[in-house]
Amino acid sequence: MKSEELFNESKKFLPGGVDSPVRAYKPYPFFAERAKGSKIIDVDGKTYIDYCLAYGPMVLGHANPEVMAEVILQLKNGSAYGVPTEKEIELAKMVVKKVPCADMVRFVNSGTEATMSAIRLARAATTRNKIVKFEGSYHGAHDYVLVKSGSGAMGLPDSPGVPEETTKNTILVPFNDEDVLLDLVKDQGDSIAAIIIEPIMGNIGFIPPKKGYLEFLRKLTSENDIILIFDEVITGFRIAEGGAQEYFGVTPDLVTFGKILGGGFPIGALAGKKELMEMIAPSGNVYQAGTFNGNPISVTAGLTTLKQLNHSFYSEMNLKGEKLRDGIRDVLVENDLNYQVAGLSSMFQVYLTEKEVWNYEDAKTAQIDKFTHYFQTLLNNGVFVPPAQFECCFLSLMHSDDDIQNTLEIIDKGMKTIKNL
Ligand SMILES: *Cc1c(COP(=O)(O)O)cnc(C)c1O
Repeated sequence: MKSEELFNESKKFLPGGVDSPVRAYKPYPFFAERAKGSKIIDVDGKTYIDYCLAYGPMVLGHANPEVMAEVILQLKNGSAYGVPTEKEIELAKMVVKKVPCADMVRFVNSGTEATMSAIRLARAATTRNKIVKFEGSYHGAHDYVLVKSGSGAMGLPDSPGVPEETTKNTILVPFNDEDVLLDLVKDQGDSIAAIIIEPIMGNIGFIPPKKGYLEFLRKLTSENDIILIFDEVITGFRIAEGGAQEYFGVTPDLVTFGKILGGGFPIGALAGKKELMEMIAPSGNVYQAGTFNGNPISVTAGLTTLKQLNHSFYSEMNLKGEKLRDGIRDVLVENDLNYQVAGLSSMFQVYLTEKEVWNYEDAKTAQIDKFTHYFQTLLNNGVFVPPAQFECCFLSLMHSDDDIQNTLEIIDKGMKTIKNL
């Protein structure tokens, strides 16, 4: 297999043979040749229905024709200027129009940069140092938040190279637990700058907030002058036009974006209330900068993508998601399995546990050894889901009824494989 050969070659030049840890799985990852719509095709010519979708960004499917056309036009006019462009205003306006908490936007290059900058801003605004994050949440690969993270960082809770001095100000709490936070804020509220949360946990599978939990957080943070940051790098523009904050009707002080916002190109953003955003340099003195910030290619792709994400788009995505999740539930019933099907709109995951999953500890009861076999069966049969139990799967607009039907048959095979293990 050419993928296997490439992986062996790759390991000589790239640590672990990949550029991001989650991409490596046993015995070797397939190498992509091209992708179109709901499909990704590997270098050996095999086609997969893609539910990884680059870990979230490709909400319109791969190689969306409008995005391609606009990006090609922009490319001909140059790909980076180091001076502002009108399109940045256009994209910022679109974000402000769609997202409840957004008065102003700063474009950066990744979700990681967005959360790093949002935390710096929150610390500056409150002149406090501590931040609170949730066990199993992932906010990118920078030092402040690399403590019991989800995603590829699972199992590397404290990476070597992250000084204790950096993470001693990061306090971990369990998701969906009001009492722990009440006690924490009572004790230390006046030294906490921000609570950063994925309003739906998407890097430990899929965990929704309990009813009223986000409202509780909003009230607690407001009363204690703590800045509430929603990390909507996954949920932004996926769950609803205005993200999870629109869906749940809870407005944070700051929000971070990435993934979908770049229409398949690298981007990140932080957005929020004007008073806060105007503290960012050069209008204020909270430093944030980047050579490629707001670069015209990503901005063009983002604009062309966001223009296509209207109300009917979300209705359609909700239907696709429901159809797939209902189908998986049927497969589980037929196989007499009691696993958890989690998800909302175009996000989903099957937890291989009989326990309902409301936090990190619950998620950890999933049988990850079985997941490996399940994943391999899907892959062998032409369905690509992220290679880890604690990632989330995604649908795109291009996933057809046929794709979903085929996928359900293959998931049935996957479940039959692990049933008797
Ligand atoms: C992917 C992700 C990030 C990091 O974004 P990058 O663009 O990979 O740096 C941050 N937060 C959440 C919730 C994510 O899913």
